[in-house]
Amino acid sequence: MPAPLNAVVTGSTSGIGLGIATAFAENGMNVMLNGFGDADDIERVRAGLEEKHRVSVRYNGADMTKPAEIRALIKEAETAFGQVDVLVNNAGIQHVTKIEDFPEEKFDAIIAINLVSAFHTTKAVMAGMKARGFGRVINIASAHGLVASPFKSAYVAAKHGVVGMTKTVALEGAEFGVTANAICPGYVKTPLVEKQIPDTAKERGISEEEVVKDVLLAAQSTKKFVKIEEVGALACFLCTEGAASITGAALPVDGGWVAH
Ligand code: NAD
Repeated sequence: MPAPLNAVVTGSTSGIGLGIATAFAENGMNVMLNGFGDADDIERVRAGLEEKHRVSVRYNGADMTKPAEIRALIKEAETAFGQVDVLVNNAGIQHVTKIEDFPEEKFDAIIAINLVSAFHTTKAVMAGMKARGFGRVINIASAHGLVASPFKSAYVAAKHGVVGMTKTVALEGAEFGVTANAICPGYVKTPLVEKQIPDTAKERGISEEEVVKDVLLAAQSTKKFVKIEEVGALACFLCTEGAASITGAALPVDGGWVAH
């Protein structure tokens, strides 16, 4: 295992991705941040992580719908760090509407960002990881990679696709020290979830409070949101030698949701 590890985390300017990037930096890993947001805010986060944890933290704003920008992101990380040892495919968006009203451009964007971008990033890092005999591909899928909910046709399709692609990458990397796993979180209170509460209330004809209690946390047996730090902790473990034989797995972090 190379030390320190060098990671790319897509969609790491917010929510789960930022939590994973922070956990990586705390563990001495160099990190390439990616995602949208206010340039000053992003720079504050980047410089803060770098200073606090004495690691190298860079930022590249590649749009995950643009394959050329994705390839340039991986190139920049390879140039800055020498190599990419850990790839976290995390960038994602959501849209909640019944299928007959689902905007076609929204469906395409969700598939592009939540699924196809992971193909482009993985394609760009895989040969190097195999040649060096070490690599970790961590795909942030969802409980919706394992089960469905109504009004989320694009998201559920993309996340099931991510789980499938994870298994293929695991099989291709298995003899080369490259593991690939999908983390499948339940509901985590991030902007992605907060934004869908009003739309879900509208689709179901219930209040926003009822959405949280009767929809989001209904199947989550703990009746609690999953913490960002809990997803970060699992991502860190997957990077260790102790996790070398965990590959091709879809690992729920969902308070017991898919145990039903
Ligand atoms: P978030 O909205 O807080 O963060 C999403 C990140 O993706 C941001 O950094 C954003 O800038 C980035 N992003 C969006 N579009 C992009 C694009 N075109 N190019 C580059 N970056 C882009 O959301 P989150 O909840 O932290 O979600 C992160 C991942 O976790 C997603 O894949 C999501 O599906 C998954 N997930 C979230 C939950 C949850 O409950 N929050 C549960 C399961 C899985």
